[in-house]
Amino acid sequence: MSEYSVARYSTIPVRVGNLIVGGGAPVAVQSMTNTDTADIRATVDQVLALGRAGSELVRLTVNTEAAARAVPVIRDGLEKAGCKIPLIGDFHFNGHKLLQKYPECGQALEKYRINPGNVGRGVKRDEKFALMIEMACRYDKAVRIGVNWGSMDQELVARLMDENSRREQPLDSDEVIREIMVVSALDNARRAEALGLGRDRIVLSCKMSGVQDLIGVYRELAGRCDYALHLGLTEAGVGSKGIVASTAALAVLLQEDIGDTIRISLTPEPGGARTQEVVVAQEILQSMGLRSFTPMVVACPGCGRTNSTFFQQLAMDIQSHLREQMPLWKDQYPGVEAMTVAIMGCVVNGPGESKHANIGISLPGTGETPVAPVYEDGVKTVTLKGEGIAREFQQIVQQYVIDHYLYG
Ligand code: SF4
Repeated sequence: MSEYSVARYSTIPVRVGNLIVGGGAPVAVQSMTNTDTADIRATVDQVLALGRAGSELVRLTVNTEAAARAVPVIRDGLEKAGCKIPLIGDFHFNGHKLLQKYPECGQALEKYRINPGNVGRGVKRDEKFALMIEMACRYDKAVRIGVNWGSMDQELVARLMDENSRREQPLDSDEVIREIMVVSALDNARRAEALGLGRDRIVLSCKMSGVQDLIGVYRELAGRCDYALHLGLTEAGVGSKGIVASTAALAVLLQEDIGDTIRISLTPEPGGARTQEVVVAQEILQSMGLRSFTPMVVACPGCGRTNSTFFQQLAMDIQSHLREQMPLWKDQYPGVEAMTVAIMGCVVNGPGESKHANIGISLPGTGETPVAPVYEDGVKTVTLKGEGIAREFQQIVQQYVIDHYLYG
């Protein structure tokens, strides 16, 4: 929990493979593959990439018999590569059949995501839901009851809409939809418990694509239960729109201590890396002071006082360097993930910001003496000049890491 926030909601801890989510554990970063799960090589490679980027849970779709057969082989491939990341199976429509027919699939997964809106209707729906819960109990797996407003349980929608229309003062349609989402999650969680699944094996989510809707529905959900909660703005969108909308929604909820796992559902740009959703999730948590994943680079935006792109390039190079080093550094240099590096464009705010960081550099602005003072722990240690400023600064950062974080 952040030192800036006040605990208002507590949830039951849930074990998902080697990870505990909820119950005050650090908010975990989740991601989802976009490969065809039946393509074992591509899926193993993508899970490994997501894991290297820092994803702590990875969900994959299990939609066909070929996908269900592939899951245990994917698990084996990950184990051989030394990757223990828990896998979550995303089931819709035919999950009950796949889990029954391919028990190795059910065993290789650590959590089953069940969308109550996509299980079926009437008696058949109850039977299918019960079969999936029975499998989770048999193999001691966690279950996420994942309600999505794009696929709501139509019987529940009809019933609650009908009830609302008979009220003296009917709720507006947004409120009714939020209520349907919450009731769907809670009813199905209780049904799962009645079928024998422990409260400590249940995670809930109610994903919506509108920022205010998402905030409203999770506030309601958090106030009405103590199940662990997974957060995500569904269909967040492409590029900066997806990042901004997800951040706006999740930051409000996380600040209120709502949310135990998060996923950022970005649509990758063509050729873009799937791992971007992991980076964004980490940056949200780190910017809010909730967790530290990788050293933060503080950089000024630049202005008319510097017309060189040199400092922008240096900021990008240092940021990429630090992120690339983290898989190695996190064991070798424990605590380095909380380090801050300031890279500033001129002397107006440069020295001040550098003094607040662990290590900082102020590059010369237009017309300033071509020197770059470097500060370490608030003290000026060297002034760089000439052609090699970038290279020398990288070496200073590297040495700072060794001096301050080697074996903690
Ligand atoms: S530090 Fe200097 S270059 Fe950077 S934004 Fe401030 S005034 Fe402009």
